[in-house]
Parts: sequence; C-alpha cells; structure tokens
Amino acid sequence: MEPTGPQPRSKIDRSIRPSGIVLQPDIPICQTDLPLDWYQEEFKPYAEEYLSLGDRKPETVLPWMDSYICPALEKLGPELMLLAHYYMGGEVVKLVERYGGHVGDSYALARQSILHPERKIFVESAVHFMAEAIALLAAPDQRVYITNPKSGCTMEMMAKEFMVTPAFEKLQSRYGDDLVVVAYMNTSGRLKALAGQSGGAVCTSSNASKVVRWARAQGRRILFVPDEHLGRNVAAEVGIPEDRIFLWPGGHEGSELLLEELPKQVLAQLDRAELILWGSFCGVHTIFSAEHVAYWRERGFSVVVHPECPREIVDLADASGSTSFLWKHVLDAPAGSSFAVGTEGHFVRNLREQAGQRGVAVQHLADVPLPGDNRECGCATMSRNDPPHLVAMLDLLGKGEAPDLNRVLPGDMVDEVSGWRERLDEKGRAGVAANARLALERMIEITEVE
Ligand code: SF4
Repeated sequence: MEPTGPQPRSKIDRSIRPSGIVLQPDIPICQTDLPLDWYQEEFKPYAEEYLSLGDRKPETVLPWMDSYICPALEKLGPELMLLAHYYMGGEVVKLVERYGGHVGDSYALARQSILHPERKIFVESAVHFMAEAIALLAAPDQRVYITNPKSGCTMEMMAKEFMVTPAFEKLQSRYGDDLVVVAYMNTSGRLKALAGQSGGAVCTSSNASKVVRWARAQGRRILFVPDEHLGRNVAAEVGIPEDRIFLWPGGHEGSELLLEELPKQVLAQLDRAELILWGSFCGVHTIFSAEHVAYWRERGFSVVVHPECPREIVDLADASGSTSFLWKHVLDAPAGSSFAVGTEGHFVRNLREQAGQRGVAVQHLADVPLPGDNRECGCATMSRNDPPHLVAMLDLLGKGEAPDLNRVLPGDMVDEVSGWRERLDEKGRAGVAANARLALERMIEITEVE
C-alpha cells in the first residue's frame, strides 16, 4: 500500500547524489530542435553541425559531442563542475551525468560552490536564477557559466526586481519594519538581497514551511515572493487562515498597484493579512485538475505532486514535496507500486524510465484522455539548454574563449526574450551578494537547525 493521509513533507537534500539515470541506446537525444536563430552568434556554428546530423539517436549524437567535450574536459580538468536540473529536457540531464556532471534540484545546485571550494568553474544547464544562486555563494576565484542565458523561469519572469521593489516600498511605507520578505529560491539575486535586507530569508519548496514559521514567530507580516500556490500550501501547513492571506497581483500589475486606490474593504483585508502572496505562478505546475487526480486514483495510482501545484491539488494528493522528494519517494517504492506524478514533464519522463527498471509504474498526472488537456507539460524555458549549447560552452571554455554573455554574476538581470542583460558595477554586485547571502544563510540556519 502506498502512503495516504497526512502529506509527508520533504527532507532537505544536503548533497548531490547520482540521479541513477541511465542513457538508453534507443532513446532519442532531443525531442525538439531549436531554430538556428535562437542560438547566440558564437554558438551558431555548433548548432549548424548539430542540426545537420542524421538523427537524434545516442550513437549519432554522442560521437559528435565527444569530439568537442572530451578534449575540453581534459583541458579544464578537475576544476570544472557540470551541473543540470532535473527538469532539463532533451536528455541533457543524462548527458551532463555522462560527462561527469551532477543533477539536482535548485537547493542542491545552489550549494555546490560552497561544498566544492576546489572547483573553480561551474557550468550549469538550467535556468538563470539557479546559476545566479551558485554565483551568489561562490568565492572570488570561482566562476559560473550558464549554457543558455535565455533560459528563464516564467514564475521568476513575473517577479522581476523592478516589479516587486515598488510594491515592497509601498507596503513598507504602510507597515514599516513589521514587513519581512521571504523569497522563494525561484527569484533573482536582487530579490534574495531584498529578503536579506528586510531581515527575511530565502526558502525552497522543501523548507518553505519552516522559513514561514520562523518569520511568523517574529510576529512580522510576510511578503512571500513568488509563488502564489506554494505560499497557499505553506499557509495551510503552518495554520494561517484564508482571511489572513492577501493576494497581491504579480507582474507589471503588481508594481503599478496603488494602495490609495484600493477600495476600503480591500485595504482592510490587506491590513489584516499575515501573509501577502506575490501573484505569480508556474505554468507547468498549474495545469492539474481534480479530474486528473480522480482518473489515476480510480486506476489504483498514488498521486504525488509538487507544492507549486494549486492548493486543491495538493490537498487531494497522497503526498507532496520538492523535486528531490518526488524522485526519492518514487524510486524507493517497492516493485509493483504505481504513481501519477504532478510536476514538470521532462522530470516525470526521466522518472518513468528509471522507475520502470525497478518495476514501479509512473504516469504524468495530466496524461489522461480528457478533452482539452495539456499533457506532460515540460518546462519549455529550461529546455532552451540543449546538446549544442553544452558542446559550444565547453569547447569555447576549453579554448579560453567563453562568451561573457554566458558568465553569471550576482545581480545580473536578464531579459529572457531578447537575451539583453543589465549588469551591476562591482559595488552593486557586492551589495547584492552580501544581502542575498544573508538571506540564503538564514535559510540554511533555519533549515538545518534540527
Ligand atoms: S518548471 Fe516552472 S517554476 Fe520550475 S523553472 Fe520551469 S517555469 Fe520555473
């Protein structure tokens, strides 16, 4: 029997372990090729070669990748660390492990520069905020690169610093030092710094309830940035009632909202709120419905979901927890178990392959024959890192020609559509890094105190 009843919460993942992913010879390397004009100039020659390969099978793609990556790895030596997030599509997670790299969730990735002071170059295939989190904690002699700087998180894109800071200032002028910011890991360094400055902390999906309990124990009003759904799930877990939650709109609307234009009763509701939620969310985790849960339950599946899913879905599920929790929960289950997993599609596909080898059945929660369903929704922005991005990044790094655009420094703000980047001067970067570290270190203290 799979667990039911109270939802177990994830335990913090203190280290990166091998994912257990095995590259199968008959699995295509990439499900969709990116158009050539999506690559930065320096990467186009590599993309052209890749696009001209006969197919996407490992026996075709791997020799091409090896011809660039093996010499680069030899040149860069043990100072290099390759990293990828579990949500990477295009089999990049498997390729990164094949070349000696590591796969983890955002918390595990963020800690790698601290855990490995002997590594000096980090190359990350995931979204920008994850690479920036490594850079925030990096020592001055450690460099961080992202294989595609246009790879962003849509939730973070609705909570840019220039959107959140004006709202924070309005709230601060009303509530003063009573206001504290809790920034989810899916935020830029600038917002993590805002959390640090306000006396707040960063949180992840696995420790958000601990961090919110900690902030609440100080009797302070919490601005939780983003995500709306994780915030609601945490509120339910720590016992914040619905009428003490206020939803502030996300995106540009959130920066433009004026307190003086709010109707009296809405303002009164804001004044009562213990938790103010920034209204952004993840498009990938909000496609699930009660019908999906019912469909798989009727067929004997346990339902496990990520807490970025809406409250109703987490409430209906048998268990919820972070990416690492979901991976471990399913792979530790006895043979014959079956799970419908409500999270990112590439992750579920990789999990299905691994669990299948152990006799555990895995389905994507939204993969049901109901009309109008969006099946196996993957994180499209993260999947902008593909084999030619990894090849180009490592080959150019090995030659000492790594493009500056791929370097990630604290406080970098990227427009994921155009690739335009705003970089702070040295003093600005040092300020962001110091305040963001405060918020990250507070999270680590709060989380690891037990
Ligand atoms: S899956 Fe959602 S929250 Fe995660 S990186 Fe992609 S857009 Fe962001």
